Amino acid sequence: MRGPQWLERGMHHVWLPYAQMQTAPSPLPVVATQGRTITLADGSELLDGIASWWTACHGYNHPHIRQAVQAQLACMPHVMFGGLVNEPALTLATRLAALLPGDLERVFFTDSGSVAVEVAMKMAIQYWLNRGERGRTRLLAFRGGYHGDTMATMAVCDPDEGMHSLYAGALPEHFMAELPVDAASTQALDNLLAQSAGQIAAIIVEPLVQGAGGMLFHSPDVLLTLRQLADRHGVLLILDEIFTGFGRTGTLFACEQAGIVPDIITLSKALTGGTMALAATVARRHVFEAFLSDNPLHALMHGPTFMANAMACACANASLDLFACEPRLTQVAQIEAQMRSELEACRHLPGVVDVRVMGAIGVVELARIADMNALKAALVAQGVWVRPFRTIIYLTPAFTITPAELSRLTAAIHTVLAHQG
Ligand code: PLP
Repeated sequence: MRGPQWLERGMHHVWLPYAQMQTAPSPLPVVATQGRTITLADGSELLDGIASWWTACHGYNHPHIRQAVQAQLACMPHVMFGGLVNEPALTLATRLAALLPGDLERVFFTDSGSVAVEVAMKMAIQYWLNRGERGRTRLLAFRGGYHGDTMATMAVCDPDEGMHSLYAGALPEHFMAELPVDAASTQALDNLLAQSAGQIAAIIVEPLVQGAGGMLFHSPDVLLTLRQLADRHGVLLILDEIFTGFGRTGTLFACEQAGIVPDIITLSKALTGGTMALAATVARRHVFEAFLSDNPLHALMHGPTFMANAMACACANASLDLFACEPRLTQVAQIEAQMRSELEACRHLPGVVDVRVMGAIGVVELARIADMNALKAALVAQGVWVRPFRTIIYLTPAFTITPAELSRLTAAIHTVLAHQG
């Protein structure tokens, strides 16, 4: 069947992400999104199991968010943030500071998760420079971690994960360690921090779930250990909550489960309920104060053109309204319970090596996937949009998904895997 004209024409000119353009199957042409449904150009519908890369936590096209964007569009879509400020951005900064734990209270806005991480890295390195310590230019990151696709963030992703290995020679070297999940790995990390004293600006970690690196879970104790080690060795702790922030693991922020306050936190994805591009790097008071000086060179030299875009900030404020007045965290707990019981049925299917669930994240891990394109097509044939990667099939649905819709997703995965075997 031929697609619409815009698809045929446009596919000669567009370059798709993570895709071998010579062999990748044609992408599906989408014409509308509503609730948990993606409507394709031929009128068929897919039930979305991954909320557009974990962003659309309230479902698509929520009326409250749409109205907020429309109202903002009518009066001020965008105004530069250098020397000018706007109400939605300052209100959002105030609200984020109130929601985040401890004195995480200074918000630097950007427009993508990767850039939010880059800003966190720059903040950490310059924090030490401003305090007169010139040697602390490296970060300590973890195997299995993912923090973005830009040059700086690739350098703190797992080097063996494969996706970025091509660029290895062009990336600066940071320290890479195993997460401190037991006594031996904690001791190894302690030793590494002691040996590298004076070189490390900050530890960076995705709290509770390493997402794009393989949906790997760890316990809140790991975060507690990292906070203790960071304090003992006098380095900053950056939590990358771009995936986990805004309820995904069961609490509004994953760090709440460990009762720790990082020095810097990064947020994006569900910040706007998945409607517009926006990210935030939020620093504790002591980090911000290290930039206050008579010396102009002590200022943070960063300023994306579209930072603090008024429509994106209005969108994020509307998303926070929904977290305040609709039972999102209760919905996450219900999704968690349902996925635990329904995905369990996959555990004994051939090729399945693990089933794990945390909050609104459900994972079926396989020993190997013989034909990824066939698997994706089989899921689409079941009427669901799920995007497996490497050996992982996962669900990260909108928190507003109904029990019946969620059952359709888990049943589709079960059916497809049962037929694969
Ligand atoms: N950090 C984490 C933990 C992420 O999951 C992602 C994206 O998946 C990023 C950073 C990068 O965000 P973006 O794709 O918006 O640049």
